[in-house]
Amino acid sequence: MKDNYDHEPGPSLAVLIVGAGIGGLSAAIALRRRGHCVLVLDRADLSSTGMVGAAIHLCPNITGILPHWGVDMQNLGASHVSRYLARSYDGRTIQDLNLAAEHSARWSNPWLMVHRAALHKELRRVATAEEGEGVPVVLEGNLNVVGVDPQKGMVMLEGGETVLADVIVGADGIYSKTRDAVSALPLFRSGKAAFRFMIPRLAAVSDPETAPLANPDDTFSLWLANDRRVVMYPCHNNEWLNFVCVHPDTESHTTLSDEWNKETTLENVIQVFHTFEPRLLALFRKVDPATLKVWQLLDMDVLPSWTIGKLALLGDAAHPCLPYHAQGGAQAIEDAAALAAVLPRDATKLDEVSERLKLYESIRFERARRIQHYSRLAGQDRGGKKKAEKFDALQFKEYNFNHNEMGHAAAAYAEWLKERQEKCGTSS
Ligand SMILES: Cc1cc2nc3c(=O)[nH]c(=O)nc-3n(C[C@H](O)[C@H](O)[C@H](O)COP(=O)(O)OP(=O)(O)OC[C@H]3O[C@@H](n4cnc5c(N)ncnc54)[C@H](O)[C@@H]3O)c2cc1C
Repeated sequence: MKDNYDHEPGPSLAVLIVGAGIGGLSAAIALRRRGHCVLVLDRADLSSTGMVGAAIHLCPNITGILPHWGVDMQNLGASHVSRYLARSYDGRTIQDLNLAAEHSARWSNPWLMVHRAALHKELRRVATAEEGEGVPVVLEGNLNVVGVDPQKGMVMLEGGETVLADVIVGADGIYSKTRDAVSALPLFRSGKAAFRFMIPRLAAVSDPETAPLANPDDTFSLWLANDRRVVMYPCHNNEWLNFVCVHPDTESHTTLSDEWNKETTLENVIQVFHTFEPRLLALFRKVDPATLKVWQLLDMDVLPSWTIGKLALLGDAAHPCLPYHAQGGAQAIEDAAALAAVLPRDATKLDEVSERLKLYESIRFERARRIQHYSRLAGQDRGGKKKAEKFDALQFKEYNFNHNEMGHAAAAYAEWLKERQEKCGTSS
């Protein structure tokens, strides 16, 4: 494995990224484009191109970044969100918004719904392509990272092997191992879990009972009850309908350590949502039961710091986010943009890596904290106890969607450089 990492000492940095998820691959692309030599390690077998069947929506704050990195948006098979339709659990319309008209006035980039496998595949293609700016990224699978020495810049692998780097990026997700080097803050149950699955849209459209639910293309649909909700949206060239069904975790027996692969049964899904409108339950029944998964939704207090020595955390490893008005993937991509902004080739000396990683943290900290907080508010149960703080979805969207992290980080970096130059000028 180390043979692939024959980085020559020089102005570019040897960057080792732990985790080839959305955040790790985004950081790999952004840092490659900054002229660095990037190795990405993942414990999963990266030779398989398949992925857990689930979708993700990419908000305008992200669709403004990806094309800058050479991501070909045509390859994502995306559906554009043009309608937002919220119903009560029994099917009564609560809110029906035509976003197509509103969108162009409010946000400068599209709001897309994509299959995760398509996003992953495209990020991997861009990271490792021979063409494009910088040196192709090296991806290595089946390597489980068991520890990090942030001062030495060393990563320890299961089996005893070690790898040295100038910068280590901990992008190993919510159950992060690299986080142990920064903090002992524990994850805790949010009290909710989510069933995730997809059905072929054709199956929904060809059944007269369910067709009215599946017919409007590019609609982001929600069904809301007090303590549970269903989100449905199309993806993959509009061929699939993606479901996220959030409910009290006690009803699906999920535990703190359940990751993506916990299987469940259709009977359990129907039981948990039995009060919901029959047409929706009829849609559920079109799933291939073998693909049903349940995912415990975990939370964590705000980490006091994301960096130490040569190590910087990114994405869910740094700030796991509940998937309400879901933004965890988006935040990981914004982190990657900011990290690359503070590490330009030639201008980054080895002895200032740690200081620059702190700068990355300071650029991103407040926004990631606010998004984490908003996600919690957005996921509060409806009705019942008086809420401590009101969640204003429109205000959140304005804050979230209009953000340009590339511009924000570049401005913060320029300011830091200016201050540094002024200090040097004063002291000399
Ligand atoms: C139900 C649900 C719906 C969501 N919907 C959305 C959405 O619509 N929009 C959005 O932006 N976000 C969404 N999110 C959040 C989003 O999925 C995550 O925030 C995002 O995937 C985090 O990316 P990451 O790269 O930080 O971590 P991950 O995607 O978890 O990647 C971590 C990688 O690290 C690897 N790894 C872990 N440990 C090790 C180790 N010890 N050694 C080596 N490799 C390791 C893993 O194999 C994995 O490849 C949703 C989340 C959930 C649960």
